[in-house]
Amino acid sequence: MTPSDAERLWLSPILHADLDAFYASVETLKDPGLRGRPVIVGGTSGRGVVTSASYEARRFGVRSAMPTAQARKLCPSGVFIQPSFPAYIAKSIQVKEIFEEFSVAVEPLSLDEAFLDLRTARRLWSDPPTAAEALKDRVMRATGLVLSVGVAPNKFLSKLASRMAKPDGVLVVGADRVDEFLRPLPVGHLWGVGEQTEVVMRRLGLRTIGDVAACPPEILERALGSHGAGLAQLALGRDDRKVVPDQVARSVGAEETFQRDLSEPTQILGALLKLSDRVASRLRGQGISGRTVSLKVRMPNFETFSRSRTLKCEVDGATGIYGVARELLEKFLESKPPGNRKIRLLGVSVGNLCRWPASDQMILDRRPEWGAAEVALDRVRLRFGEDALGFGALLEDG
Ligand SMILES: [Mg+2]
Repeated sequence: MTPSDAERLWLSPILHADLDAFYASVETLKDPGLRGRPVIVGGTSGRGVVTSASYEARRFGVRSAMPTAQARKLCPSGVFIQPSFPAYIAKSIQVKEIFEEFSVAVEPLSLDEAFLDLRTARRLWSDPPTAAEALKDRVMRATGLVLSVGVAPNKFLSKLASRMAKPDGVLVVGADRVDEFLRPLPVGHLWGVGEQTEVVMRRLGLRTIGDVAACPPEILERALGSHGAGLAQLALGRDDRKVVPDQVARSVGAEETFQRDLSEPTQILGALLKLSDRVASRLRGQGISGRTVSLKVRMPNFETFSRSRTLKCEVDGATGIYGVARELLEKFLESKPPGNRKIRLLGVSVGNLCRWPASDQMILDRRPEWGAAEVALDRVRLRFGEDALGFGALLEDG
């Protein structure tokens, strides 16, 4: 790929990530005996409606929002299940955390879909389609759920693309392919076109998005009011709405409860380094850094302590975070009698966050060789999982 190819791909930096048949898939994960069967999640009482149907059930014509009674007629062999939201929410949180490893700009739309603006993570990826494939992969490995992803220049197009990518796909709409992609689609695919609007459009002879794009805007406005002007823009593939994250994290952290309490200094420091490395990776994945490093220590009797230090400059690397966390830990352990230095849980977090790169601010551990090495590690981790690589060598020289 030439540099200009990559540049062109970056003109489509907005991802719409949407889990396939989410509730039905979670039910299948809970009970693997359901795999391959038509699973229909919804209200099972007389007036219930379908909220999610597996692809096997869709083959029978079952769709979301359809009355359950109708679904039973279409698919008598279906497995009908009442929704259990706690399970869906737990999975949803897990998936959102993965999205946030890929971009600091994640805007959830519901439990199973979100927009991601990848421009904050340019450092991590050669191009957005590669990131989209990695995201799918990571979600599958971590949760067992199938994700479809649309990759496009803006929100409207990426949402449309993910819908067309289903099931289990990635669809990229290149900035130079927008018209080609959009024009043949029926008007119902325009954002905000419901049944009523569709009737009006049909009366105007508008059947495809291309028809709408070619229609003089005055005519649309006369028929549909201000809504018409917005639709004319969408039909041309224009949408300048930003991806708005629901909230900015106040700190990024990682912690671990050990299967057996740790007492050996080398084990403790090894664990601390691993956690520092994980935090660093998350920070960089979101394109941020922070100035306050905090340590959390829980003893076998569940007494829990935290210590933190605010630095003069940002850190986003494992070596910098580890250096501070280690000092905090050593000071903490010194304050304890030697017989009382067992550790049940360790946590490391970084707060006082700011957007990375902090242009000309000094980064504590910005030794160029480390920076490059850690970015390379991030890439490997995102593709192969967090434990794929670690700072083994660092442990040796303590
Ligand atoms: Mg979905």
